[in-house]
Formats: sequence, structure tokens, C-alpha cells
Amino acid sequence: MRRIVNTAYISKLTNEPTGVWCTQFTVDEVMKTGIEELYAMAMEESGRVIPSEPSKKALRNFVEFVCDYYKIEHTVSYSIEYLLNKIDEATSSISHSYSISNEYIKPPRECIIKLIERNIERGHSSHENNNVIATELVAAGYKNRDIYFIFNSIYDEPGGDWGWYTDNPNKAGRQIDLIRSKALNRYSKDKLIQMNICTDKCGCV
Ligand SMILES: [Zn+2]
Repeated sequence: MRRIVNTAYISKLTNEPTGVWCTQFTVDEVMKTGIEELYAMAMEESGRVIPSEPSKKALRNFVEFVCDYYKIEHTVSYSIEYLLNKIDEATSSISHSYSISNEYIKPPRECIIKLIERNIERGHSSHENNNVIATELVAAGYKNRDIYFIFNSIYDEPGGDWGWYTDNPNKAGRQIDLIRSKALNRYSKDKLIQMNICTDKCGCV
């Protein structure tokens, strides 16, 4: 963004406001209105803000554009989450705080947090438990480092070939990559009850 909306333009020569305001227009207005009229609208402080429309397609296109830039392979079957993660891995060893729109993020459920705590305590987790934990953390938008920290806390040993984490906290394990690339959902409450991880009394949904 070049200017902050609804602020005055300042003359570079005099450092005084020029009388023109940085004003938002809709695409429709720009297409249908003459430049004089638009300019006249910008001479008054309107205070209006046009809400942006989030577009999944635009997000997808932008992410793919960045993937091309960093030579990251992408196909339609790769999820946004997975690709963002690959970009993160490609661009730095320090985790960026990218955030995906809130509608994709689901905080971990209480029974899953308890499952993680139990498994850390006993230093063991089954493959099925790990799938439950991993899909939950990915759905919650956890980054590689956070996921690494949790599985490493359970096993307290190098990631090895199991694929839940690698020796590099910033590089996701194979299983985590798979969950992200397929955009696998977290387990349903019904399934968790069947697995004796959740109960009817649990407040989760
Ligand atoms: Zn529950």
C-alpha cells in the first residue's frame, strides 16, 4: 500500500498538506467515473473505508506465484497450508509468522491437548494417536517448530524414519507434509469417542 487511506497528501516541497486525500475507490467507480470527478472526491476527507473481499482464488494464485519464484513444485492437489510451509522452509531457517485467514484455523480441542499431555508424560504415543495429534496441530495452524517441539517432547529422541518430525525443527516430518499436502481434516468428535480419546462429557465439538 502506497499511502494510508484517509490521510492527507503532503507536499514534498513545502511539507504542507496539498488538499488531496488518499481515498479508496471501488473498481466499479474507477471504471465508470471520470478522472476529474474522482479527483474532486479526493479533495474532501470522506473517512470511508471499503472492506476488502478475501478471495481464495487470489490467495491461491499469489501463493503459486511465490512458489514459482522459489522454484517450489506445486500442483492443484497441494493445499495452501502445505505450500506456505514449503515457502517458509525455502526462505529462511527462522519461522515467519504467516497467517492464514481465520476460517481455516481451528484451535486444538481440549481432549487432544490432554492426549498430548498424557503421551508426553508416558513418553509414548501410538501411530494412530500421532495421526490424531498431527491433524489437530496442522488444522490449528501450528508451524513446524511447534509441531517438532510437541513430538520431540513425547519421544525425546531424534525423529528417525517415523516421519512425525525431523532433526531440523524447521523442516516438517514426512507425515506432517502428507497431512498438509492433502489438506487432511482433523478427526471428528464421533471418531475420537470411538477411539476413547474424547467422551460425551468433553466440551469439544
Ligand atoms: Zn473432546
